[in-house]
Formats: sequence, C-alpha cells, structure tokens
Amino acid sequence: MFINLVSDTVTKPTPGMLQAMWSAEVGDDVFREDPTATALEEKCAHLFGHEAALFCPSGTMANQIALKVHTRPLDEVICDEMSHIYQYEVGGYAFHSGIGVNLLKGENGILSAEMVEAAIKSPFDWLPKSTLVVIENTCNKGGGSMYNLETIRQISEVCRRRQLAFHMDGARLFNALVETGNTPAEIGREMDSISICLSKGLGAPVGSVLIGHQAFIKEARRVRKAMGGGMRQIGYLAAAGIYALDNHVVRLKEDHENARRIAETLKNCSWATNIRPVQTNILIFDLVAPLTPALFLEKLKQKGVLASAFGPQTIRFVTHLDVSKEMTDTVIEHLGSF
Ligand SMILES: *Cc1c(COP(=O)(O)O)cnc(C)c1O
Repeated sequence: MFINLVSDTVTKPTPGMLQAMWSAEVGDDVFREDPTATALEEKCAHLFGHEAALFCPSGTMANQIALKVHTRPLDEVICDEMSHIYQYEVGGYAFHSGIGVNLLKGENGILSAEMVEAAIKSPFDWLPKSTLVVIENTCNKGGGSMYNLETIRQISEVCRRRQLAFHMDGARLFNALVETGNTPAEIGREMDSISICLSKGLGAPVGSVLIGHQAFIKEARRVRKAMGGGMRQIGYLAAAGIYALDNHVVRLKEDHENARRIAETLKNCSWATNIRPVQTNILIFDLVAPLTPALFLEKLKQKGVLASAFGPQTIRFVTHLDVSKEMTDTVIEHLGSF
C-alpha cells in the first residue's frame, strides 16, 4: 500500500459513504426524478444562501458551464494566471464559450480588488468585453492559498459596481472555510456563482456542484445537457456527496495539520528549497539541483510514497482523507533520512 500524496482526488469511499450510496433512493435525473440528487442540490443551495444548485460530473464541467452562462462570445474573463480554468481545463473557455482570458499576476494566485478593477477594459468596439471575474479558493497552483473574506467582499463590490459577474472556483472551498472560520453563506452572499468539488478532500468518488441564482441554474442545466452531462440515476453519487458534506468537512483541518508538519520537516532538508507557505492541504517546494523531480519521486516511491512533479524543479504534496497522521509520520521519517 502506497501513501499517495499525488492529489486529494485519489481518495476511495469510506464504508459509511458506501453504505449511504448503497441505500440511496434514485430516479432519472434528466427528468428531475432523482430525489437524492435534488436533496444534494437543495442542501448546497441552502448552505451557501443561494436559490439553486446543479450536480455536475466534474469540477471542470461546473466551471465551464459557469463561464458559458455568464458570458457571450467575444467577452473575456478576468482571472489569475494560475487559475485552473486557464491552466488545466484544456482551453475550454475558448472552445465552449468563445471568450478570451485577461490573466493577472496575483500573490500565489490571490487577486486584489485594485488589480481586478484596473483590468476591466473600456467599452471600445475593438476590445474584448470584460464581463466576468473568476477567483479560485483555495488556489491549487498557488499552493492551496486562500482568500480572506474582506478581499472577496472588495472584489465583489467592484464586480457589482462595474456590472461584471463574479464566479468562485471553490474546488477546495471547504479547506479554506475550516481555516478562516467563515460560513458558506458569508461567501455565498458575495458571489453570483460557486463551484465546489465533492471528489477532492471531501472524499466522494465523483461529482461537483454549481451553485447560483434560479435563472442562472436553469440555464446551467441546459448547458450541462448540451455538454453531455445530463445523467440518469445519479442519486448513488449524490448520496456520497451528502455524506461527504455531513461527515468530511471538519476533519479537513487534520489534512492541513499533516501538510504543515511535512513542511516543517522540509525546512531542515538541505535538498529542499523555496518551500511555499502551507495554508491548507497543498505543499509545493523546489528541489536543489542536481536532484531532479524524476529522481526524487523514484526514490520516494521506493519508500512507498507517491507524489507528483509540478514544474521542472518543483514537487507537490497533497494531504487528504486517505493520509492518516501515522502515514504522515512515516513520510516525515523518510524525508528526514533522505
Ligand atoms: C480539481 C479542480 C477543479 C476541477 O477538477 P475536475 O478534475 O474536473 O473535477 C477545478 N478547479 C480546481 C482549483 C481544482 O483543483
């Protein structure tokens, strides 16, 4: 059995989650007849103080639907250069929505209201139209960095005043919430839409949820179908999501503590440098040459630990539900004697 720090997507359903899935009541969700999917959507909408929500097969689809519904072709979305929607969604913003990106250099993926406002383009015929701002919380490529509520409020104020839509890629939003102590409703109030992943740290096998206003979700449901994401008896998956929200949120703190402890160890390792500050469950650092990611990862694998390269000289560790405190101790031991 490997200790898998590659991603928080690798978790397997727990016995309790499997039991919840097994006993789910299901129906055909394309006909809106799956009571468990509806229950998950209502639960999420309520949690964030919004009117409606939509279960999606992936976080990528949830984000791509949001981009599509919030924009028209020839618009542009303002986001950080590290954004998942720019880096890791295959350029889907251009493919599905016919829009451009206006990339900003935030601090570890975190934008400020001033940067956002300065990036909004004037309404000239020859310029793309700035109609949407997307922030990522926590920011994956930023090392699990997170927004404080005040910054979100300030960006929200800019968006409302300048009439731009405001979407949060909240794939790991609950990781941020357990650290800041903010409630989902406090975030929901500032956003036009939010996507959350059930299949990351929350430990569900599949699924994301897009949250927003009634009219937004109504259109999102049509776009989901057009993308091929209308599914049938998804109550089995939605049940895993409900279970995850009820049982796996508070414990995210343990993942953060484990990541912090590994980071502390790395500070004493001569072969590790530029260790990014750990705010949640992601730890990014560089290797000192001549040590390369390929060599480091191979050595680590021989010790039973998996991780991934995140750049020519960069390594990423992600802690999650299937990495216990004891496993973290083992990782720390191996790193200390590397
Ligand atoms: C994982 C992730 C997504 C969506 O990923 P899927 O693999 O499509 O579910 C979106 N945004 C961020 C920041 C992510 O880390």
